[in-house]
Amino acid sequence: MPSPRAQTPGAWTIVGGAIADGSGRPVRTANVRIAGGRIAAVGRVAPQRGDAVVDAHGRVVAPGFIDIHNHSSDELASDPAAETQIAQGITTAVLGPDGSSPWPIGDYLAERRRSRAALNVAVMVGHATVRRLVMKDDYKRVARPDEIAEMAALVDRGMREGAVGLSSGLEYEVGGYAETSELVELAKAAARHGGIYMSHIRDEADKAFDAFREAIAIGERARIPVQISHIKLGTVGVWHKAAEAIGLIDAARARGVDVTADAYPYNAWSSTITVLVPDKRYDYPPSVEKALADVGGAASVLVVRHAAHPEYEFRTLDAIARDRGTSPVDLFIQIVKDGGAGVVCASMIDDDIRAFYRQRWVMVASDGGINARHPRGAGTFPKVLARYVREQHWLDLPEAIRKMTSAPASRLKLSDRGRIEKGQVADLVVFDPGTIADRSTFSEPTLLPVGVDKVFVSGELVWDDGKPTGARPGQVIAPR
Ligand SMILES: [Zn+2]
Repeated sequence: MPSPRAQTPGAWTIVGGAIADGSGRPVRTANVRIAGGRIAAVGRVAPQRGDAVVDAHGRVVAPGFIDIHNHSSDELASDPAAETQIAQGITTAVLGPDGSSPWPIGDYLAERRRSRAALNVAVMVGHATVRRLVMKDDYKRVARPDEIAEMAALVDRGMREGAVGLSSGLEYEVGGYAETSELVELAKAAARHGGIYMSHIRDEADKAFDAFREAIAIGERARIPVQISHIKLGTVGVWHKAAEAIGLIDAARARGVDVTADAYPYNAWSSTITVLVPDKRYDYPPSVEKALADVGGAASVLVVRHAAHPEYEFRTLDAIARDRGTSPVDLFIQIVKDGGAGVVCASMIDDDIRAFYRQRWVMVASDGGINARHPRGAGTFPKVLARYVREQHWLDLPEAIRKMTSAPASRLKLSDRGRIEKGQVADLVVFDPGTIADRSTFSEPTLLPVGVDKVFVSGELVWDDGKPTGARPGQVIAPR
């Protein structure tokens, strides 16, 4: 479907597509007319003179996908075309997750306005970012009340400068030293501006349930909506416990705590090698041995980035250790000494992923981004539509689309995105439901997906028949 250029700039009529409007309601055949960057009409609307016409028979037309957990904040400067993102149908990326954000927020957003990207961006204030600004290198301790007050003032500033919430990464170095009460105070500062609290919780393994309870408590005490990032059960000891986790969250929701979550469609996480060892004793063989056993063994751990030995990349700890005639435990300790590594670790099971995805309060998010060394960076949204909808029938198509569009939009209070309705911003995806599929793999994580025909951002075509158009209409989404 080569696209004719519209004679009236930005005027299009998409004809004959199956509309998955973002609400979760069944698809229906209708035309969608776009003018002035907005959806002008939906229904039996005829193309007007000068409109470019897109024939969408046999295709699904959906709102653009909103990725509420995206790690592209640095990469957008060098890769504003963001091909791996728009090729999936992502039209809005929420940056600054896991406690780490650009700073100052105002300067970052001003830069994004000056140098626009193909897709829209919003940003969170990172807890670790403000904690580091206040505590400098002396962060390996509980913060004093005056330091917490200073951090809260920075969160307040970030929110005033346009952030949509506070993110934390409590499994990581800087954020992990914070007590719950520190997070409550900072979350209150975000709540005063209508923000959400989005957390990579303190533990996604044996102590995941304590970590779920902490996230819920922060929501309850700070009166703030909570988004549990990339919800998972990542060790043998908690496998098959999704129903229990869902019960805990449903109970909190029933008593009025606004808790939601997102999940990526992979059974392997990607992070730094040190997160494998929860007691942080990275050079203590028994701790390392238990850590490797908990994820199913050294064959589950794939090294994807290790500056000291690039030849380790895309090989498992198990295979590298065998080659070098050493044990996986000794190899792990040496890798940490040599500066650490990025790893991908296959330690989740499909039963739990399916159970989470079937909850209405679980959204689709990538936890990826431009140049991610995990296939989720280029494959998340098509993968859900191919594997979980078309092949395995875990979800129906309208519900999967809702999880990618109106669910994150309403989480972020974006009232004019996430639905196909008159007046909404014309961020749209046209895809073939029979062929859409991810192609990225653990060894080739940036391979582009197939089946996404067209992507519109603010009524401008940014992706057309397997290619970026070069247009960069992406907006900065900042509530203030
Ligand atoms: Zn994370």
